[in-house]
Amino acid sequence: MSTFVSEVDEEERNEAPFERREVVIKKGEDLKAFYKLHDELGRGKFGVVYKCTEIQSGKELAAKFIRTQRKEDRIDVQREVDIMTKLQHPRLLQLYDAFDDGSKEMVLILELIRGGELFERVIDDDFVLTEKACTIFLRQICEGLAYMHYVALVLHLDLKPENILCLTKTGNRIKIIDFGLARFYDPTKKLQVLFGTPEFVAPEVVNFDQVGPRTDMWSVGVITYVLLSGLSPFMGDSDAETMANVTKCKWDFEDESFDKVSDEAKDFVSQCLVKDRTKRLDTKEALNHRWLATKEAKTESALDKKKLKRFVIKRRWQKLFYTYIFLRRMGATMTFDDPPK
Ligand code: ATP
Repeated sequence: MSTFVSEVDEEERNEAPFERREVVIKKGEDLKAFYKLHDELGRGKFGVVYKCTEIQSGKELAAKFIRTQRKEDRIDVQREVDIMTKLQHPRLLQLYDAFDDGSKEMVLILELIRGGELFERVIDDDFVLTEKACTIFLRQICEGLAYMHYVALVLHLDLKPENILCLTKTGNRIKIIDFGLARFYDPTKKLQVLFGTPEFVAPEVVNFDQVGPRTDMWSVGVITYVLLSGLSPFMGDSDAETMANVTKCKWDFEDESFDKVSDEAKDFVSQCLVKDRTKRLDTKEALNHRWLATKEAKTESALDKKKLKRFVIKRRWQKLFYTYIFLRRMGATMTFDDPPK
């Protein structure tokens, strides 16, 4: 059976996974006295995420183990907790609890997201990817970002396909995850950062210039470009080449994949992938852009997903390769199912 995407229902849109919580990191307490760990859900550069159950309530959640070998790592996790505590919005992953037992890992207990990564979902043979579906996802991403930028004064700074998850395997709701590189932002102060994922990072990050809310909108532009075409606009043969392509800001819609893409969609991407940060769309302008704002007259014909499938499979392999290299360096073996003993 094919899956068509319909609009997100207002009620389910605002559904919260649990009551608002002010999380204070539990120091010196044993995680296993409170939570039972299950299978691995995913892993990234900084840690591994397992499904878990709160023993007292039976609530299913996710436990993210973050390596904190250096003192600075602990400060980073404390910042992630402070930021997540501020981010109370249905489009943003919610924090439930946090642990620091003084060992080489800290643990965040998070809302459990069951639907997997958005890009994995859309490449499924059963999923019909249309421009309308893209706008439904993009609108939610921009809503989450608008809250981050204007209410919480937080920049995400690591938006990429892996950090957009689907709440369920069949619904349309998405959540932005991974606030490990996020920063509080004060519009009166200059903030510069030198991290992120080359394919999705804005020119001002590569050039170590000032960043701001529109820095995240560059990444939104790249994600949209990939979703519509399966092509990565700045991808080079190495990270250095990718970053050089980003700073040149040379990209186009020449590939045949864009032949059937609407002018509105192309205009949206064009207004995000602008080298001068101040001239890019911000989240409010993006939500008012005619591609996202109007619900009618969206192309319902299916986009060709061949290249998008290739893109996702390539990233899967890259992730596996980097995990392997990392574990080799740590002298560990590669396990995917066993939660920490
Ligand atoms: P990165 O390398 O992107 O910086 P990271 O080490 O900060 O990653 P996350 O991105 O937070 O880790 O999580 C890694 C993966 O684990 C995600 O891509 C996702 O597939 C899965 N994951 C993370 N949080 C959850 C959650 N709350 N529920 C379900 N799966 C999750």
